[in-house]
Amino acid sequence: MTAAILDGKALAEELRAEIARQVAAFKAETGATPCLAAVLVGENPAGQVYVRNKRKGCEQAGIDSQLHRLPAAASNAELLELIERLNRDPAVHGILVQLPLPDAVDESRVLDAVDPLKDVDAFHPQNVGRLMQGRPRFLPCTPHGIQQLLLRNQIPIAGSHVVVIGRSDIVGKPMAAMLMQRGTGGDATVTVCHSRTRDLPAVTRRADILIVAIGRAKFVTAEMVKPGAVVIDVGINRTDAGLVGDVDFEAVRAVAGQITPVPGGVGPLTIAMLLHNTLAAARMQAG
Ligand code: NDP
Repeated sequence: MTAAILDGKALAEELRAEIARQVAAFKAETGATPCLAAVLVGENPAGQVYVRNKRKGCEQAGIDSQLHRLPAAASNAELLELIERLNRDPAVHGILVQLPLPDAVDESRVLDAVDPLKDVDAFHPQNVGRLMQGRPRFLPCTPHGIQQLLLRNQIPIAGSHVVVIGRSDIVGKPMAAMLMQRGTGGDATVTVCHSRTRDLPAVTRRADILIVAIGRAKFVTAEMVKPGAVVIDVGINRTDAGLVGDVDFEAVRAVAGQITPVPGGVGPLTIAMLLHNTLAAARMQAG
């Protein structure tokens, strides 16, 4: 079997066109333009690329964006002061703090300071709590993109066994929470694995849908995948051979039913869902 490719890039373009139409309607209705403020601390090259791509996405969708740069040596107080200023600014609807932050910065304190109504990454404890309770304000961008990819490709989620490898606050945990919720896009039976999971291949081989968010190049091999399974590769690893995912794409493609490539899979969807959340934030703030 050769797995079909789940084309995240094409779906992201479709979603972005939908969002651009909705932004135009919002502007016509309210006279306001949704605006995302990105906060970038230090010189992390990957962070700079992510922020550039996110701002480019905003521009194409008709969303304003601002970039606020602070030096790597910025203090907690400086960063908190900037967040407070953005919280108070009625022209700013969404605030994105690009991670990772330098070690000296208290990341939780900074993320907790973002106004929950402007928290387009859905990292604030209030928004995480709402997600867990099944009444989300914003859905976190990467898991939301993956859920849309599954839904729009008519991949059955309800009743399926989903195995998520990785338990980060950004991907693994919210992904599991979303897929196990009651209702559309949920109702899956979810298993979450991590570095302490015993006999990982035995668990992953039981997955109808395997979602991999580890950060280790080509970690998932063909032996770890059930024939015909759907494999979603979240990993972004920079190697001498270029960008590769957490899945050994060529080997796993021979076993899986459907698979996302890297690049061109989950990454573009993450940005599309950020635009979606920025528009949602602007709508909420417009009343
Ligand atoms: P984290 O480093 O925060 O989490 C990694 C998780 O993988 C941890 O839960 C860790 O377990 C688990 N893990 C590590 N090694 C193993 C192992 N040998 N066996 C099983 N589990 C293991 O990473 P993120 O979730 O932030 O990111 C994961 C990957 O996804 C990265 O490559 C990142 O760049 C990418 N990413 C891509 C995005 C996109 O838009 N495409 C968005 C966000 C992330 P433990 O908890 O026990 O340490």
